[in-house]
Amino acid sequence: MSRLVMKFGGTSVADLDRIRRVAALVAAETAAGRRVAVVVSAMAGKTNELVAWTDGAGEAIADLPVSDDEYDTVVASGEQVTAGLLAMTLRNMGVSARSWMGWQIPIITDEAHGRARIDEIPGEALGAALDGGEVAVIAGFQGVTRDGRISTLGRGGSDTTAVAIAAAIKANCCDIYTDVDGVYTTDPRIESKARRLARISYEEMLEMASLGAKVLHTRSVEMAMAHGVPVRVLSSFVEPGQAGEMGTIVCDEEEIVEKRIVSGVAFSRDEAKISLFGLPDHPGVSSEIFGRLADANVNVDMIVQSHAHREGAANMEFTVGKRDSARALEIVRGAKDVIGFDDVAVNDDVAKVSVIGVGMRSHAGVAKTMFGALAEKGVNIQVISTSEIKISVLIDSAYTELAVRALHAAYGLDQL
Ligand code: ADP
Ligand code: ASP
Ligand code: MG
Repeated sequence: MSRLVMKFGGTSVADLDRIRRVAALVAAETAAGRRVAVVVSAMAGKTNELVAWTDGAGEAIADLPVSDDEYDTVVASGEQVTAGLLAMTLRNMGVSARSWMGWQIPIITDEAHGRARIDEIPGEALGAALDGGEVAVIAGFQGVTRDGRISTLGRGGSDTTAVAIAAAIKANCCDIYTDVDGVYTTDPRIESKARRLARISYEEMLEMASLGAKVLHTRSVEMAMAHGVPVRVLSSFVEPGQAGEMGTIVCDEEEIVEKRIVSGVAFSRDEAKISLFGLPDHPGVSSEIFGRLADANVNVDMIVQSHAHREGAANMEFTVGKRDSARALEIVRGAKDVIGFDDVAVNDDVAKVSVIGVGMRSHAGVAKTMFGALAEKGVNIQVISTSEIKISVLIDSAYTELAVRALHAAYGLDQL
């Protein structure tokens, strides 16, 4: 009998009516003879509320860093509620079901609270329950450390739970039900001319996700690629039993017949730029700066270095996530005497816009089109970075939407 994982995000389980609809979708699959594991998120807005209770904003009880184990105890609770409610609804409909928390399966993670990585999922107990004809309703986003503490996988992490479960139970497919009917050429909330892609390669999806398209959690795509899990993204507004050929399939590049040079445009406003002026231009300076940032667990993304006007001096700019900008600034300032530079500045009003496509490997002129389209709209590029299948630019965040739309049109994505 085929095994299927169905994952439902926050808007898909936002209230009791939506949970009843989800139960009907699940029941249609079991009626068609499939063994089903369902992964659910917390109700829409719930995780934000739980996070706000911990992070020092407003009425927060404490100012817990996301790396605190009690932070995870609090924020993981939203998923427990939806898992229980969905299992109850299924039972009411006469479908055999039970809820599973991360620690009950168990989904064993490392100890990096707030952004834990899954180490292992012994799938036997779950597999046996499924084989016994019971729907497993699994709380997404949460796991358990080896010393028995609740952990969470980072915001948006329920996608990763779903793919990891699919790999553990060797499911035939992992269907990610959400509030859009697939993966689009760009965020349809920003560009109404965005087109749904029938298929997208794991590699492109990985870049899209890590460059800001939040439709799938980055780690879920990494895991799907590593374990060869076929993933499909589709809308939870479909009628029960009608999912058929709908949505977007994330698969190997070879399975995509229609070749495109650029498949999508992604953007992220979660960026900050740190500029260092008048650095000494000799070996060891970069190592000193980035070594200190790495030791403090600050992730650095784009980096550029240029000559300063003064002889023997250089300027350097790099980007970090917005959340890390204050800490990065403090670290760099703390090293001023050791490194010796004139000044440092931080700019939080920046955004990264990226174009992604496997076709870039074999086609020239992709960068030219990008820079031309941005120049035509008067958008100034502050930093550029490239990889084999993507080009990213850092721009003033006020121009994000303009840039996304201009690039979407420049690569003909609205005409796919
Ligand atoms: P869920 O709560 O179901 O996990 P998310 O909000 O995490 O849903 O992800 C779905 C959202 O991702 C969509 O509403 C859409 O605005 C956004 N999104 C960003 N980029 C894309 C894209 N390229 N294709 C589809 N959706 C995208
Ligand atoms: N509820 C969690 C969040 O909002 C996990 C998820 O929905 O994927 O981040
Ligand atoms: Mg999500």
